[in-house]
Amino acid sequence: MSSSEEYRTKCPFCSVQDDIIIKRGNPNSALFGRENLFQLYVDVKSDRGLCPRGNFVIELITSPYRLRKVMVNGKAEDLSDAIKECSTKLKKIAEKRNEVVILIGGNHTLEEAYLAKELAEKLNTELIGLFPFEDEALLSIKNDFSFNEISSSDTIFTVGDIFSHSPTLSKLIIDARNRERGNSLLYLDIIGGRISPFAESYIIKPGYTAYFISILLDYINNNKRKIELEKTRIDVPYSSIEEIAATLNKSKNGWILFSNIYGHFKNPLLIVSLLEEIASVTDNHFAVIPVAQNSLGIGRIIGGFNNEKIIKGIKNKEIKGLISFGGLPTEFIPGFDDFKKNLSFVLSSTILRKDDFTGYLFPSTLSVEKQGSIISLEEEIVTLGKSLSPVPGAISDGVLISKLIKGITGQEVKAYAGKVEPIERKSIGEVSVPISEVDEEYPFTLIGVGLPYHHGSGELTRMTNWNKERGGPYLFLNPSQYKEMGFGKKIKIVTHYSSSLLPVGNLSESPYEIPEGVVIVPTHYTECMKLFPLEVDSDRILSPGAVKARLEQ
Ligand code: SF4
Repeated sequence: MSSSEEYRTKCPFCSVQDDIIIKRGNPNSALFGRENLFQLYVDVKSDRGLCPRGNFVIELITSPYRLRKVMVNGKAEDLSDAIKECSTKLKKIAEKRNEVVILIGGNHTLEEAYLAKELAEKLNTELIGLFPFEDEALLSIKNDFSFNEISSSDTIFTVGDIFSHSPTLSKLIIDARNRERGNSLLYLDIIGGRISPFAESYIIKPGYTAYFISILLDYINNNKRKIELEKTRIDVPYSSIEEIAATLNKSKNGWILFSNIYGHFKNPLLIVSLLEEIASVTDNHFAVIPVAQNSLGIGRIIGGFNNEKIIKGIKNKEIKGLISFGGLPTEFIPGFDDFKKNLSFVLSSTILRKDDFTGYLFPSTLSVEKQGSIISLEEEIVTLGKSLSPVPGAISDGVLISKLIKGITGQEVKAYAGKVEPIERKSIGEVSVPISEVDEEYPFTLIGVGLPYHHGSGELTRMTNWNKERGGPYLFLNPSQYKEMGFGKKIKIVTHYSSSLLPVGNLSESPYEIPEGVVIVPTHYTECMKLFPLEVDSDRILSPGAVKARLEQ
């Protein structure tokens, strides 16, 4: 073994794919010092640095909670025995068309996505879907994105709090904003976010985003609707439409960006379609920033827009087997515990231990422990770089899929990465005026947000020190309203779909400006996700937006 090791790879935690370098000295050295442990470095050539989430890489690769054995209903099993059993069971279920479904996370390589698609073919199913679910709405957009151009743009119009979801992009955006007098940063959202202090903010009523953008498009097309926004409860005046339109029309190198998270925007497919049109009419660039590292690549390879059929099929008992690569279905499918009884076979891969999981659980790898290719925001195929050895016992999902295909068909498969293009746009619903009524039983609005200190399901990050200190999950609400209500340290949130008792987070730490009547939760946590509906919207996209809620002591 060489005396020291250096791995140049990509941060696995979001689509910005920042470069990271993991180093350690000779682990076998007789003199053992700090340098013999894994340490994280940022590439000096990148001026974006890393966000707190990026720093979790080290905690995860060295976590004592890593799963290192195949577990079957909580009991350890030999890998080849488990593959044999799964292959036999899957072969039987696959005798009938579309009785097995595959869900694959956006944190996989292109090669793994092609393998997963091949596995789906061998299993006689077309039902292969993508998570995080909110990224499905973005697959038909071809990103017109350049890190260089964005930092030199004269106008950035961001829909969604990109500073929270993709933290290191904030450097480029602030640089662009400050580069020249007269440069603009506009921010449209349903709650003030981390970006607010730097931007001209337009905070509109939850559920009204697509409607507001449709009016903006009409205005830009010189097709002014006679609308008095002030009467629609949208919470912003009509002059905001005029201001945004004027800025977009006059920009010479402007960017429109869309960034969403579970439980936030309603009808994301409709929103991105409208924004894309606005970008085209005003001659600005448009890009979507997915949650997961390679959702654009994975979703486009597997074909996309299957999540509706998959979840419906499981709920309606039409599906017998579920395979989930890269995440536990119990954590990313809200309410899964209620309908897992409908399934006779469940296989999942995961990074960390989960001793009470029912089904086959395979120990998996992080993308820093993999080789392969991914699609960058700039629409280029990039390689992950040099991979760390997986923790003993863990295998990448690509290896797992190859073994399953071999077990099912007897054939060896070779992973490859081909051309990846956006998928065809799904037809979208008409833009309608949202119905806004006062709901006396559910007087609050619950909004899902992303916090950079959290990642994934929460199962991961609850293991990290930051979360151990501060606890989680939790809720935030308007500090004065909280004081007035006189509630204690824990509040029960009740929605039409579920309820969760959550501690009140440190309100002075919340980066969000929370109006009265709004409660927010980080939707990385299962306890928070389940408060939102696992139902499709009017565009038949499974990506919940803000919902009505009530609070109970
Ligand atoms: S913004 Fe943070 S999570 Fe995203 S790639 Fe960069 S360091 Fe990783």
